[in-house]
Amino acid sequence: MIGAGAVGAGTAWHLARQGHDVTLIDPSLDAPLQRSNSHDQALNGTAASLGVLMGNVFRRSSGRAWRLRQRSMELWPQWVERLNHPESPLQLDTPLIQLASSSLESERMQSLAKQRPELGLESFSSESTEALQTSDQIPWPNPGHGGLCSQNDGRIDPFALQRALRRSLKAEKVALLPARVTTLHRPNPGDGNRWRLDLNTGHNTYCDVVVICTALASAQLLQPLGHAFPMEAVLGQVLDLEVSATTKAWDHWPAVLVCNGINLIRHGDNRLWLGATLEQGEEPSANEPSIMRRLDGLAPNWLQQAEVVDQWHGLRARPSGRPAPLLEVLEPGLILASGHYRNGVLLAPATADWVGQQMMSTTKIPAS
Ligand SMILES: Cc1cc2nc3c(=O)[nH]c(=O)nc-3n(C[C@H](O)[C@H](O)[C@H](O)COP(=O)(O)OP(=O)(O)OC[C@H]3O[C@@H](n4cnc5c(N)ncnc54)[C@H](O)[C@@H]3O)c2cc1C
Repeated sequence: MIGAGAVGAGTAWHLARQGHDVTLIDPSLDAPLQRSNSHDQALNGTAASLGVLMGNVFRRSSGRAWRLRQRSMELWPQWVERLNHPESPLQLDTPLIQLASSSLESERMQSLAKQRPELGLESFSSESTEALQTSDQIPWPNPGHGGLCSQNDGRIDPFALQRALRRSLKAEKVALLPARVTTLHRPNPGDGNRWRLDLNTGHNTYCDVVVICTALASAQLLQPLGHAFPMEAVLGQVLDLEVSATTKAWDHWPAVLVCNGINLIRHGDNRLWLGATLEQGEEPSANEPSIMRRLDGLAPNWLQQAEVVDQWHGLRARPSGRPAPLLEVLEPGLILASGHYRNGVLLAPATADWVGQQMMSTTKIPAS
């Protein structure tokens, strides 16, 4: 396995549980699991992510993207149950509330709620938006068109997930190799008919199957083998805000509140993450955070006055000319599971499940 973000680490854990002998390679494996304080440097997807799981509110009701979301939402509770441990606690925070920004969106939400009551979707009107809050509570932004409450969507803390995965990877005896893969060589008799992976440490490692989960870096690894999977970087900025001392209560705040496509996530006392921007390229814009913060003119006073105490940015890997994510068996023993764009955390379980199925059909697990 190459790449230890949510997708690679989750897949490595799943494959090890299936009985495969797994080595996970990533230069970040010897670094502490925390968000770096360097604001100048882009973080990898998982470190930058907000961990929002928007599976059941997905607009479409058919096709691969919908099936992957449904599979992930089905697997998440099982993953959390298996990964949760007193040393690395993990939980799903629910619900997720989307506020409609127009009457058209409100109609779409009502129709989705009608189709999916068994998935925990319920729409509400603009009157009940006000009824959901009392005057002693911090007011939500209010576009005035009601919204959609999804009981089973929500959030997983990406760092808690990474910590839980690291602990479980060790428990499943996955070999963790802190190195960067520089070149992949196809199996040949001189290498015992196994893939040879050159590492930046000057060493090599050998394996029967290579799974590439390196987000934007995947294209570089594949190009010398004649596989073209170009991807573009889409940058996202997140603000960590502190709301000035208030006596108003937060108890009505859902795990995730979404307004105009921006997530407002309460964390700790009077703190809120706001994100994320969608910016082409790898350079953060100086203006985008303040535009995001205005929520198209809907930001309540308390939000406009909140102080920015931290901010970060990271890169999403968006496949060029193909739908995200890229899940492909490229040739015998070479699997690509990458390019998850805006939903890599959400889709980590479904991706691991898909890779596991490909492994089952191409390799035999030795009887223990
Ligand atoms: C600001 C922001 C907010 C987001 N919010 C959400 C959200 O709320 N919900 C959601 O589902 N998704 C969200 N995303 C998207 C999500 O973060 C990504 O889709 C996901 O993290 C991708 O995971 P990954 O494991 O594929 O890649 P990454 O997390 O980017 O990990 C790739 C890993 O590959 C390693 N690597 C690279 N090259 C090599 C090499 N040659 N050899 C070895 N290792 C290598 C890197 O060191 C890195 O650790 C967000 C993204 C951003 C930027």
